[in-house]
Amino acid sequence: MIVCTGKVETSSKGFNDIINITDDVREFIEKNKLREGQLLVFINGSTAAISSIEYEPGLLRDFPELMEKIAPMNERYHHDDTWHDGNGYAHLRSTLIGPSFTVPVLDGKLVLGTWQQIILIDFDNRSRHRVVTLQFIGEKG
Ligand code: ZN
Repeated sequence: MIVCTGKVETSSKGFNDIINITDDVREFIEKNKLREGQLLVFINGSTAAISSIEYEPGLLRDFPELMEKIAPMNERYHHDDTWHDGNGYAHLRSTLIGPSFTVPVLDGKLVLGTWQQIILIDFDNRSRHRVVTLQFIGEKG
């Protein structure tokens, strides 16, 4: 069994920017000839999240609208009273969705649905440089 670690770097615009990182993750699996195991996709930062979605225009609008209902941007949050950075909503959204996604790898391929894509969502109220850590545990091919 091996452990193989890599990263995906990207810049984001913030404000619910949804970035499809599936191709980068797939490239990491193929480049390192990883055959069977589990891949952790993790974002370090408390105003972003990793999840999956059917990456199509309707859902790319629906998801931010859902987030706006759950944790509206213009609501007053205790976090903002303390830190005055105006991104209390982003921290809450990040906590709800979570910082990581685990995907099985089988026969050198990600086990994903046909339309299921791995996404980084940046909720922050400014543009950011983001580094996503990839960590595979399993067998090489
Ligand atoms: Zn903050």
